[in-house]
Amino acid sequence: HQPWYSPETGIYKSKYPSIELPSDPFLDVVSFILSQKHNGITAFIDSSSGFSVSYSLFFSLVKSMASGLHQLGVKQGDVILILLPNSIYFPVIFLGALSLGAIVTPMNPLSKSLEIKKQVLDLNPRVAFSVPNKVDELRITLRGCSVIEVPDYVNFDRIPSESDYLHRLIFSDPLMAPRPKIKHHDTAAILYSSGTTGSVKGVVLTHRNFITMMEHFVRFESLQYDYPSTSNIYLATVPMFHIYGLSQFVMGLLSLGTTVVVMKKFNADEMVRAIDGYGVTHFPTVPPLLMALIRKVKSSPGNSFRSLKQVSCGAASLSMKFIEDFIHTLPHVDLIQGYGLTESTAVGTRGYNTVKIRKYSSVGLLAPNAQAKVVDWVTGSCLPPGSIGELWLHTPGVMKEYLNNVAATTATIDEDGWLHTGDIVYFDQEGYLYVLDRLKEVIKYKGFQIAPADLESVLLSHPEVLDAAVTAAKDEEAGEIPIAFVVRKDGSSLSETVLMDYVAKQVTPYKKLRKVYFQASIPRSAAGKILRRELRALLNSKL
Ligand code: AMP
Repeated sequence: HQPWYSPETGIYKSKYPSIELPSDPFLDVVSFILSQKHNGITAFIDSSSGFSVSYSLFFSLVKSMASGLHQLGVKQGDVILILLPNSIYFPVIFLGALSLGAIVTPMNPLSKSLEIKKQVLDLNPRVAFSVPNKVDELRITLRGCSVIEVPDYVNFDRIPSESDYLHRLIFSDPLMAPRPKIKHHDTAAILYSSGTTGSVKGVVLTHRNFITMMEHFVRFESLQYDYPSTSNIYLATVPMFHIYGLSQFVMGLLSLGTTVVVMKKFNADEMVRAIDGYGVTHFPTVPPLLMALIRKVKSSPGNSFRSLKQVSCGAASLSMKFIEDFIHTLPHVDLIQGYGLTESTAVGTRGYNTVKIRKYSSVGLLAPNAQAKVVDWVTGSCLPPGSIGELWLHTPGVMKEYLNNVAATTATIDEDGWLHTGDIVYFDQEGYLYVLDRLKEVIKYKGFQIAPADLESVLLSHPEVLDAAVTAAKDEEAGEIPIAFVVRKDGSSLSETVLMDYVAKQVTPYKKLRKVYFQASIPRSAAGKILRRELRALLNSKL
């Protein structure tokens, strides 16, 4: 008897007790965060300089940022673009903007002009925060938008000069920050994801979505530990511009009063120094970084990484080989996996190992309040534990919509509110979820999304390309890499290197093509749709 599964409705329920979500329709996520009290605790430490901010200073900086943005003319509903790597500035800017009722859209700072233009021109950002080497380019791309340079080192001690906008914002009077009425269904952030098909789309997330995510965080953590979470020290290497890093380091952990050591960019030696130097206890990561950690442990025999208690892994599949390697290498560290999507505000499942149950290859149990269905993608029928199908999710973490895209929204969230994830899964007899594969087109390179449709449109923009299709090949290091099939125009002698360079110049570096096969034709249906299954078969025949 499994009380968490109903054969009548086909619905899987969370095994956790439900959480009463705050009912105040005017509760915004920043008020929710600021209502937490963690006096005397360090909120963030910059891994390279050791510079740290306490919770009280951090909350005051958030209010100063809000005040400064207000003086800059930012109003409720305005859009703020954040094009930054991880730093203490990131959460200050993000939450400062949100507390004004502004909408934040974060992006990979390595994005190329065309990608930025495509993604944010429809949002018309009012202010952009950028890495120094992108400032001039952004000023041209986003006309009418104030572009504020954020240095790649942390410095809150400087006396702001006239030209130093960032520090003028940070040193604004926190008491001058207005607090407009923000409804919990108002938009808080727009992140980009390609969903189950096509190009990247703006995922509209509300204040309530984020509050749901934070409430889950508290519940999961309090169930896992019998010691106060304020003694935990997390290492932040996963980028804050992606829902994974955003949900954990910019918001989730703030409700627990933990300390977050922020690493600007992943570097294996610095990771080891940070773990040792700051006594890191928790390391949320993705499969390739977990592999890097294993390699480092093996190559530093004197170092037992004693402080580490838990490594959590998400965003992409973790192979059994690495799980075994990890358990063997770091036997004192708990390894869990978690599962979520941008479209669900990272709410999904979380691994939960106990003394009796150790299911390392599972992504864990459904989040509190979350419901799921496993649906046969051919017949549409709901499937019981042990059967494989597409995962549908129902949680208050599910996005409001895809921005300006009713067709994509209705194809992804059905009329009963179920989010069709495009992931192929099954639940075992104890309610643990396993992710096996994907129905959707997205390619996951080191946990980052690559939309084949976006690479295809770059390829098709080349004057000598007649047709193109992109698919994923398995790769031990990155998980998956993008491979293209291309039909050249008659008479063209376009080479693989030239075409790969052409694409690389226009896309964020991790998205670049790793191989091109020239073909006579691309498998397409009568209606012209790329037949992706046939494409994968074609790739297998080449490999
Ligand atoms: P994103 O919106 O970029 O976070 O991508 C979400 C997608 O990443 C999911 O739909 C899955 O396909 C994949 N994913 C996330 N977590 C896991 C995991 N633990 N194991 C396998 N795939 C995952």
